[in-house]
Amino acid sequence: MTRIFNFGAGPAMLPTAVMEKAQQEFLDYNNMGASVIEISHRSKEFDAIINEADALLTELASIPENYKILYVHGGAQMQFSAVPLNLINRLPARKAAYVESGNFAKLAAKEAARYGNITTLASSEATNYNCIPAFDAAALDADTSYVHITSNNTIYGTRWQQFPDTGEIPLVADMTSELLSRKIDISKFGIIFAGLQKNLGPAGLACVIIRDDLLGHALPETPSLLNYKTYADQHSLANTNNTFAIYMMKLVLEWLRDQGGLDAIEAQNESKAALLYAAIDNSPFYQGTAHIDHRSAMNVTFNLTNPDLLDEFLSQALARGLYALKGHRNVGGIRASIYNAMPREGCQALVDFMQEFEKNNT
Ligand SMILES: *Cc1c(COP(=O)(O)O)cnc(C)c1O
Repeated sequence: MTRIFNFGAGPAMLPTAVMEKAQQEFLDYNNMGASVIEISHRSKEFDAIINEADALLTELASIPENYKILYVHGGAQMQFSAVPLNLINRLPARKAAYVESGNFAKLAAKEAARYGNITTLASSEATNYNCIPAFDAAALDADTSYVHITSNNTIYGTRWQQFPDTGEIPLVADMTSELLSRKIDISKFGIIFAGLQKNLGPAGLACVIIRDDLLGHALPETPSLLNYKTYADQHSLANTNNTFAIYMMKLVLEWLRDQGGLDAIEAQNESKAALLYAAIDNSPFYQGTAHIDHRSAMNVTFNLTNPDLLDEFLSQALARGLYALKGHRNVGGIRASIYNAMPREGCQALVDFMQEFEKNNT
C-alpha cells in the first residue's frame, strides 16, 4: 500500500502513527475484548480516555485553570449558533461584533444575527478576503457581548499574525484550521472553538475552550445540548457523545506530545510553509493569492500565472500521489492544506513537482 499526500482542507490527513494505533486496538481496547466504539460513554475506560484528552490538551495548549474544555456536537459551524446562544445575552444590549475575514466569518455572523444585533467591524470582502482586515478595538461599544474572529482562514490562506486586544469584551475565535498548530496565549480569548477534522481528529465534533465566567449566560431558549454549561457541568457527557472522535483526538494529542509539543510542531509548520512560499515567490510561473503579511502556515493558496494549465497541473499532481490540491471555488487556483500531520516530505514532493511542471511548460 502506498499512502498519498493528502492536501485536502478537511477532513484532512491524520498522522499515520495515530491511525495505526487506532487500528491495532480497534477490536480489543485495553484487553477488554471489545472495541472503544462498543463501550459505554460512562464506562471507567472511556472516563480515562476523556480525562487523558483534557490533560493532554491542557498541557499542550497551556490552558489556564479558569478555562473548561468541552466536546460539543455538530462540528465547527454548529458553534456559529452555539456562541451567540451562549454569549450574546451576556449584556442586555445583545450586541456582538464580527470581523469578516472570510466566508466562515460571514456565515458565523449570519447565524448570530438570528439572536441579536450584529455589527461587522471590518471586512476584506472587497479584495476577496486576501488579507485580515484592520480594525480598531478601541472603537468597540462597551455594551458589546463579544467579538468574533476566525484565526486562520482556511479557504483564503490567511491568518491573524497578532490577535487584537479587545479589553473587557470577550474575544471568540474560530480556530478550526489551526488549533494546536502554533502557540497561542489562551488567556487572550473568552472562547476558542475548533472542529476536529483539520488538525485534531475525525469530523462532526468541536472542541471548545471557554473561560468559566462566560458560562451561564445562555438565552433561555437555548437547546440544552447547545448550552455550554450543560457540557461543563456534565463533562460533555449529558448524552451519548461521539466517543470515537474523542478517543481519536486523544491519540492525536499523544502524538503531538511525542513530537515535542507545540514548540516543535510550530517550528516544523513554519518551515513547511516557508518551503512552499519560497517556491511560489521565486518563480514567475506561480503567484500567491494571500497578502504576504497575512499568509497562513496551514493553507497555502496560489495560482498559475497561466490559469489554462490548472487542470493539467492538478491531474499530473494526482498521478504522483499529491491529492486534493484544487483551490476552493471562491478563490480558484491551488490550495495546499498542510496541517500538523502533513510531513515535510509531502511539502518537498509538491515543491519538486511544481518546479518540474514549470520546466516542462515554459
Ligand atoms: C472547516 C472549517 C469550518 C467548518 O467546519 P464544520 O465542522 O464543517 O462545520 C468552520 N470554520 C473554519 C475556520 C473551518 O476551517
